[in-house]
Amino acid sequence: MDIAKGELLYEGKAKRLYATENPGELLMEFKDDLTAFDAVKKGQEQGKGAVNNRISALLMGALAEAGIESSFIRALDANHSLVRKVEIVPLEVIVRYEAHGSLCRRYGIEAGKVIDPPLVEIGYKNDELHDPFLSDEIAVLMGLASYEEIARIRYMALVTGEKLREIYGAHGIKLLDFKLEFGRWQAPDGATKIILADEVTPDTCRLVDAKTGEKLDKDLFRFDLGDVGEGYRKLLKKMEGEQ
Ligand code: 5GP
Repeated sequence: MDIAKGELLYEGKAKRLYATENPGELLMEFKDDLTAFDAVKKGQEQGKGAVNNRISALLMGALAEAGIESSFIRALDANHSLVRKVEIVPLEVIVRYEAHGSLCRRYGIEAGKVIDPPLVEIGYKNDELHDPFLSDEIAVLMGLASYEEIARIRYMALVTGEKLREIYGAHGIKLLDFKLEFGRWQAPDGATKIILADEVTPDTCRLVDAKTGEKLDKDLFRFDLGDVGEGYRKLLKKMEGEQ
């Protein structure tokens, strides 16, 4: 790795962030840890961090080529990427193309129901409160974001989703839903911009093999549906063009 790892600034469930010599850039380390249900369920899968670092780099790179700006700069080694420093907007933005997971649990909607046009759900990023669903008014009332920022975030989530569906689709993978986070980034001209942040990986996307329906995401771990390491490695192989 050609960048020195500075002070540990933040440790999340799946990643650590370290300072670099450049105040505008951080090192993102992908851990092998797996958590579910607001970290009530915990596990480890050797090699998961490296697979997710690779998948996130592939996806963020393809999104950048499509004009979607994110905090990703470049992958550095197996588990590390260089990212722009942002102020995370404490919202979890979920886009759904089919009903699964908590949407079915909360509302009794039949699993697999097609959602067209896609649904954008915004939650408050807070594990203790279980990431509760927020209206725009509540998000503004709580000072989490402005109406303008929320409108931009909704738009960017939908545009990102269309591109992600296209990228996954080209590799025979169907994207059912996913979660994004956004950050406020101080651009070199001094303006503050909303950009995509965090990660896009099988930890944050619900994915199936388009032909076989085989699950290729963290639900394998959440619901003990199969070998999570094998699922993630299969996904990466598909993304890298090996079938
Ligand atoms: P659901 O709300 O159905 O559990 O999740 C919808 C989608 O968002 C899934 O693809 C899931 O992976 C992602 N997602 C929702 N909340 C979280 C979260 O707190 N952490 C992670 N990693 N993904 C989440």
